[in-house]
Amino acid sequence: MTSQQFIQVVKEAGIVGAGGAGFPTYKKLENPVETVIINGAECEPLLFKDVTLMENHAADIIDGLQAVMDHTGARQGIVAIKRKNHAAIKAIRSRLKASMHIFEMEDVYPAGDEYEVVFHATGKRIPAGGFPFEIGILVQNVETIYNIRRAIHNQPVTHSMVTVSGAVNQPYTAWVPLGTPYAHLLEQAGGVTANGFVILDGGPMMGKVVEDLETTVGKTTSGLVVIPRDAHLAARKTQDERTFRRIGKSTCDQCSLCTEMCPRYLMGYPIQPHLVMRSLLTSDPLSKSLTPWAQACCECNICSLWACPEELDPRNVCATTKRDLKAQNMWQDAATLQTLMQPVHPVKDYRAVPTRRLMRKLGIAHLYRMAPYRDTLPVATELRLSLRQHIGAPAIPVVRVGDAVQSGDPIARAAEDALSVPVHAPCNGVITTVDDNHITLISD
Ligand code: SF4
Ligand code: SF4
Repeated sequence: MTSQQFIQVVKEAGIVGAGGAGFPTYKKLENPVETVIINGAECEPLLFKDVTLMENHAADIIDGLQAVMDHTGARQGIVAIKRKNHAAIKAIRSRLKASMHIFEMEDVYPAGDEYEVVFHATGKRIPAGGFPFEIGILVQNVETIYNIRRAIHNQPVTHSMVTVSGAVNQPYTAWVPLGTPYAHLLEQAGGVTANGFVILDGGPMMGKVVEDLETTVGKTTSGLVVIPRDAHLAARKTQDERTFRRIGKSTCDQCSLCTEMCPRYLMGYPIQPHLVMRSLLTSDPLSKSLTPWAQACCECNICSLWACPEELDPRNVCATTKRDLKAQNMWQDAATLQTLMQPVHPVKDYRAVPTRRLMRKLGIAHLYRMAPYRDTLPVATELRLSLRQHIGAPAIPVVRVGDAVQSGDPIARAAEDALSVPVHAPCNGVITTVDDNHITLISD
């Protein structure tokens, strides 16, 4: 297969970064690199989908890694796994090839942040505002690599590996057809143990709060963590923008602990959330000297949910400030950001946040239970597939109401001349609705 054919195969299989925002993977494969890293760090508490994948599909993951290394010309492959995940390490180690090795990571948060993985596994730092390929590195999530291996064997993305955990009767991790409603996933967990509850979609730290049980699984869905609605964490994560900005403005004492504990700051990146908080006190809401210090924020939430003694929300202040900087054309280019880089902080290693202590701080330690692998899950009657499961232009439907489809059939194609990927039927069924945003099918 030529390099161009490989990229086309990955695109036509509809693969997107399964561990992040859904960036189409084919675009990340356009540059030659020296090193390919599989990111299996999985640092969100109560999620087990990457470790489950590595324990159960090690051979396919290593095949996928080899294929990506061959395509990019990489001379080494690294699989980053937390040291505590003995079974996954054993499974991967038994399949490793000569040019590959495992990098064992500490059980800290946010170990799985791409910048952290690259720094710890190679000693290199991704350029501020830049990309790993600029330093000869490609990072892919475990599931993305697994999906690439499937694509080479003509199998498109139809399912996502998902953990359902927290306040449910029977936590589990399973392959879930795309388009499955969250209500169905909670039913399969034997129901919820709390009276009122919210779902942390993607994990307790970076996940967003979801209350609509008709929300459906997409290509980036990694885990549903159920917590009681009256949990302190639920209140913290549902504060609206007006409230967190008003409280921040009146209460921030500029102690700067948010900055001192910020993982990106500790790696030398130009991010200082306490300065962004200070901007709330100025008459100009987008202070030119203060707000640019939000730009390198990865929204990990350490500042808000771990560091700030006042329980303020510098993370969301940074996130909304980044939005406003873009809207006001105040976004700094990568070259400018790189002039602001500092050496790695000398106490960085001492400020890592242990996952167990983090769970206690979040008030969710009592919800910690393994979510074992279930190799079969009943398919929901109705599946509703978003045409916007990826960053870029939405996919364009190629089916009509009443069409019968087979599992793996394309039901929406990638938009032309744009960053986009197709969508495929996750099971056999009949199409019941088609619009610009979704396709619904009734499963056979
Ligand atoms: S840690 Fe909290 S109080 Fe201290 S500077 Fe940051 S936001 Fe303000
Ligand atoms: S969320 Fe807070 S701690 Fe995390 S990178 Fe942004 S400013 Fe730093």
